Amino acid sequence: MRSFFIALLFICTFSIATARNTNVKQITPDVITISPDRKQLQTLGWPNDIINSVAINTGNGIILIDTQNSPANARLIKSEIIDQFNDSTFVYIINTHGHSCHTGGNSVFDQQSIVAHSLSIDEIKNYDDIFLGQTIDFLRKKIYYNNNVLDTMRIENAISDSINESIDLYRFYEDDLLNNYKVRYPDLTFDDTLTISHGNKTIKLMYMGKGHGNADIMAYIEQDKVLCTGNLFHLGAQQVEAMPSFYLNRVNEIDKWVATMNTFLKQYAGDFTILTTHGKKNFDRENLEFINAYCQLVSTEVKAAKNSGISLEKLLENESFDNFFKKNRNIIGSSSKIAEMHERNLRIIWKYL
Ligand SMILES: [Zn+2]
Ligand SMILES: [Zn+2]
Repeated sequence: MRSFFIALLFICTFSIATARNTNVKQITPDVITISPDRKQLQTLGWPNDIINSVAINTGNGIILIDTQNSPANARLIKSEIIDQFNDSTFVYIINTHGHSCHTGGNSVFDQQSIVAHSLSIDEIKNYDDIFLGQTIDFLRKKIYYNNNVLDTMRIENAISDSINESIDLYRFYEDDLLNNYKVRYPDLTFDDTLTISHGNKTIKLMYMGKGHGNADIMAYIEQDKVLCTGNLFHLGAQQVEAMPSFYLNRVNEIDKWVATMNTFLKQYAGDFTILTTHGKKNFDRENLEFINAYCQLVSTEVKAAKNSGISLEKLLENESFDNFFKKNRNIIGSSSKIAEMHERNLRIIWKYL
């Protein structure tokens, strides 16, 4: 039995060690999503399992959307992107907001313009102070533990190689933190919209309004019909992937979200693909229309309830929401989690309208 487990462990370790270090998905001939593979992310212990960056081949250099959580991981995806497009020129870096899993690798791109919403600079300053300290502590515990495991092993084999490899990764990341790497601040910022034209691509950037963070933007690659929504509404990263999740204890500018989505949907007819930073699957036009209609319904019903003195508890029983979810079952399904997420969303918006 024991030898069976050792054999199994050996096989697993071996297959991990020989796997690629990144996951790449081709979205269109010129657009890919890329993330460090699962092993890498787990090793680094980051709370988000998946951090998808998006790389766009403009025919005259590469545009990258979101730079991972650290210089180490940014360097990893950078070299894979260079291989994929057979081009090493990066022309623009876009941050979909300032949180560290979208900006942590900015410093690896020190020659390019970093494009983001103007509020993202404060977001970077506030957020990273909290995150970095916790992570150094976490990494040191992992290094200590793995060194102890190595000490108990008498022979060098694929298992010890794998442990050594993970210690290297921890050190790699710890170095970034100990060197007190500074997240490079965006240097091309905008307040409402910005259009970037480069090579054969046009990318429309739109500010969404405060919610998940203060600086969330969407980026639309017109020629490829691909919309990158970053971490907006936690799309793709919650139990019901297509159901938007609003953010607790932050200003939620729901009417601004609706206005931005309306403008976008009116300007661009036809279908498009939605890519999210932390989700496994892609969405499309129907999903954005659903989110937009849902936000409008929440805004309207909360305002109406407040105007006529109806309590939040009473509003939660309002049938129009149930009917809306029933009508949209093909998009969000019928999980019991929908009601949970909806109640949470309503409670949040109640505070801000
Ligand atoms: Zn975020
Ligand atoms: Zn994020």
